[in-house]
Amino acid sequence: MNSEYCLEKPYLGWFAKICSIPHESRNERRLSDFLVSFAKERDLFVSQDAAGNILIKKPGTPGMEKAPTVILQGHMDMVCVKENGLDFDFSTTPLKLVFDGDKLRAEGTSLGADNGIALSYALALLDSRDIPHPPLEAVFTVEEEVGMGGASAFDASQLTASLFINMDSEEEGVFCVSCAGGRRSRMSIPVTFEKTEAMPNEEKGVFRRVTVGGLAGGHSGLEIIKERGNANKLLARILDDLMRKVPCHMVSLNGGTAANAIPKESSAVLVLHADDKALRKELDAWADAFRHELRGADGAGLTVMLSEAERAERVLTAESANRVISAALLIPDGIASMDMTITSQRLVESSNNFAMIRMEEDNVVFHCQTRSSSASRKDALCRQLDVLGNMVGATVEHSGDYPAWEYNPDSKLQPLFEKAYRDLFGKNARVEGIHAGLECGLFAEKFKNLGHAMDFLSFGPDVVGAHSTKETLYLASAERSWNLLKEVLRRIGEQG
Ligand SMILES: [Zn+2]
Repeated sequence: MNSEYCLEKPYLGWFAKICSIPHESRNERRLSDFLVSFAKERDLFVSQDAAGNILIKKPGTPGMEKAPTVILQGHMDMVCVKENGLDFDFSTTPLKLVFDGDKLRAEGTSLGADNGIALSYALALLDSRDIPHPPLEAVFTVEEEVGMGGASAFDASQLTASLFINMDSEEEGVFCVSCAGGRRSRMSIPVTFEKTEAMPNEEKGVFRRVTVGGLAGGHSGLEIIKERGNANKLLARILDDLMRKVPCHMVSLNGGTAANAIPKESSAVLVLHADDKALRKELDAWADAFRHELRGADGAGLTVMLSEAERAERVLTAESANRVISAALLIPDGIASMDMTITSQRLVESSNNFAMIRMEEDNVVFHCQTRSSSASRKDALCRQLDVLGNMVGATVEHSGDYPAWEYNPDSKLQPLFEKAYRDLFGKNARVEGIHAGLECGLFAEKFKNLGHAMDFLSFGPDVVGAHSTKETLYLASAERSWNLLKEVLRRIGEQG
């Protein structure tokens, strides 16, 4: 397949156009303005809100004017990453498309098929004169990748449809029918210190760093089901054990890299009164135990390292260290409940990721990401963090809350998509929920508050490696997904 052939497909032509307009998260204005002029040139209703979100309406094609209206939704922004050392300014430079057989990527950068392909499908439909479809309401949001601020700000009362197709899924043949909500928490445990010099002689020992590492980590939502080791949790168990066995003081703690990542590495600096050989033996025993516990997950690469650490002037008091370790042992982590409504898959309903440990002046701070497709269970998990915080004298703050999209067993879109998929491709699609956030959650909550019944489904073509320089759109998959979308819209149109 050469590029000219590909670009003849209307949606790929629009995709190339989108790639020529910078649209990094929080820098979507030019793309947003382009969408306004696109609509005006075609005499379509368009509204642009203060955030830059766009709504374009197009009537149904002849004979389908009275059919149920369908919302087509995707996000304008893309995650911009480039290869190390590449001189590329996303705010000014069009992406350079590379057609490679069945694959499309961008040279040295992410592609933004997440979620440019959604806009491309919608633009191809809004632009067409010969594709039968019901009335359409195309919703393009900003800032999905940085907290879903666009969807948050969108005024859903402008919408009249009762069918909502989100096109931000990245696996062909999988229809997404629910997503988790989330909330971040920050537990600040105040600690007090004593001077190392003032410690009694028999407690003065060597400064050593203990590091749990070599784990696989991963996305704290999508990969929590893999039961991978959490380095913060494992380290807490070692520290608890050491503190009870040998004279030992804690200097500092540091673990994890981001709220939405399972921590791969976590370390503590200690003052210990034990010789390295005995200590190494203890740590080896822990490493063996952890590898065994995690043998079906990511235990194979696990390491517990012992290294020299710089002298420090102060250590946590025993009372402070005890509170910190107690909280780390008790804090909920991993899967909390499984979803029992979507029976076609093993789906996590609720989880908490004990994501990061940081020292901040006179506090040890724990960061968590809680997720659940049940609002009340998300609250319950966060309440557990509050209560634990109380017990160890910490303050707990929550932020970044977003709602879930709960599974609707009475969806009409789901069987419609399933049947169209079977008819077109002769096989069954999978119907799944996702243990991560989608904009559908925010929209679902808005419609609920408006008393406006809405039926959602999310789908999309195969996009591999989103948010990386390897991001690839599979063109044959994009073509099949396009045909599926047209078929679904035709069938809805015929209901008019
Ligand atoms: Zn996306």
